[in-house]
Amino acid sequence: MTNVSVRTGVAAPDTTALRARAERALRALGAELPSGGTLSARTPITGGELATLTGSTPDRVDAAVDKAAKAFRSWRTVPAPRRAAVVRRLGRLLGENLGELAELVTLEAGKIDAEARGEVQEMIDVCEFAVGLSRQLYGVTMPSERPGHRLQETWHPLGVVGVISAFNFPVAVWSWNTAIALVCGDTVVWKPSETTSLTAIACHALLRRAAAEEGADPEIHQLLLGGTEVGERLVDDERIALVSATGSTRMGRAVAPRVAARFGRCLLELGGNNAAIVTASADLELVTRAVVFAAAGTAGQRCTTLRRLIAHRDVANRLAERLTAAYRQLPVGDPLDPETLVGPLIDGRAYEAMQRALAAARQDGGELLCGGERVPVAGDDSYYVRPAIVRMPSQTAIVRAETFAPILYLLDYTDLDTAIAVHNGVPQGLSSSIFTGDQREAERFLAADGSDCGIANVNIGTSGAEIGGAFGGEKHTGGGRESGSDSWKAYMRRATNTINYSPDLPLAQGITFG
Ligand code: NAD
Repeated sequence: MTNVSVRTGVAAPDTTALRARAERALRALGAELPSGGTLSARTPITGGELATLTGSTPDRVDAAVDKAAKAFRSWRTVPAPRRAAVVRRLGRLLGENLGELAELVTLEAGKIDAEARGEVQEMIDVCEFAVGLSRQLYGVTMPSERPGHRLQETWHPLGVVGVISAFNFPVAVWSWNTAIALVCGDTVVWKPSETTSLTAIACHALLRRAAAEEGADPEIHQLLLGGTEVGERLVDDERIALVSATGSTRMGRAVAPRVAARFGRCLLELGGNNAAIVTASADLELVTRAVVFAAAGTAGQRCTTLRRLIAHRDVANRLAERLTAAYRQLPVGDPLDPETLVGPLIDGRAYEAMQRALAAARQDGGELLCGGERVPVAGDDSYYVRPAIVRMPSQTAIVRAETFAPILYLLDYTDLDTAIAVHNGVPQGLSSSIFTGDQREAERFLAADGSDCGIANVNIGTSGAEIGGAFGGEKHTGGGRESGSDSWKAYMRRATNTINYSPDLPLAQGITFG
């Protein structure tokens, strides 16, 4: 195995030291390293166990929802700018503890330090956004067709929001939902991924502290720990007004009909299979830098990871050479080492899924240009891989599926319409990009018959969205929108009010009755 990218002379990480770091970080964040119970908190850095925890029993789920529902009754009447004080305080606490929380993210999700810090910074940004939003929960007024009448819309708190989140953004996704939900007057019950319970315990402690310091009811936030069975109980609970669920399309397929069956609301943020089109006029230097971050960053474990590169035939070979050369330089290793750019996969299942996908791609005539092999960093229980590029003759079934690992499929095209058809020819619809120096091509991509994704970028990669825009995707990505823009509307209910200030009672549509 050639491991030019593995750092030599760097001590292999060891679980005992990592456990001590997790304990220190948790303590600084106002929580304790749990013990006892049958749930295991592991680190992908070594695959070792950091702690054991007790999962939430059905009774605990019911009690948590009950507390959140009770807290909602008074929280909804607190003026929104005063509710925002808790979120402002949370943002400050996150700023003061950025390093510790980022360290926990690295320990539990395996993100490199820069990306883990970026994730916490995103939480701070969304808190700021939500604080401003608390004075902008605008309704509209419309002209009434009746004299002496006024017509308006008002937005009210919705209820208890159930947040189910994925392992790969263990804290940011929670904050997108929670900061907005709280200023909107909702209370929150959070079930994080069973893979990232420690970061969740830390966030819960910070939010409870923010609430206490602002004199708010700490019961506005509840934390549940565990896997699918805990999530299912939350999903089926009639008292949960909105289920905001982030994770795989498989999970969304299970959750959506259950919530619909009880006429609850669902906000789904599911899998992506993101592509970029590179036209003949693109700046290949810029493309190379953007693609390496988007495709290999977070070891390919972002919902917005670039998975398909559709390059014009005139530039495909040159691009393949540049990318292969850049990939060979990527340092794979311990995410706590500041030199590392590619950390571990979350677990052995992710590694096996990657190997299966590479085998299927080869079977379909794909040529492996680089990567795919395991890199020995910290023993058999951890899974580090070299990011892979596979040149494909066509968009076969394996290319159309999301494999949550760093595999970039390279496809060629000759005309832009065909490239857009290939781009849209997958079930998912999250993020997309075009790299071009031609404004016509860019506008064609952004037009109604261009990219069918929730995010469509020009000359920038598919990942790394800012919080100010609405985030989410179409088709099997679930259709939800979170974070910026007017996403807050999903967390509130709308009432249309008609106010008659005349002494008469004219009916709409000119109806006379009696
Ligand atoms: P996952 O679907 O395995 O789990 C996500 C969450 O759903 C976990 O908390 C899990 O316990 C819970 N869950 C699973 N089945 C459930 C059920 N039947 N009922 C209730 N809860 C259930 O996903 P993962 O492996 O943690 O994360 C990776 C996936 O998430 C990828 O597909 C990725 O694209 C997607 N993702 C999407 C976004 C987005 O914004 N679109 C963001 C991050 C991750």
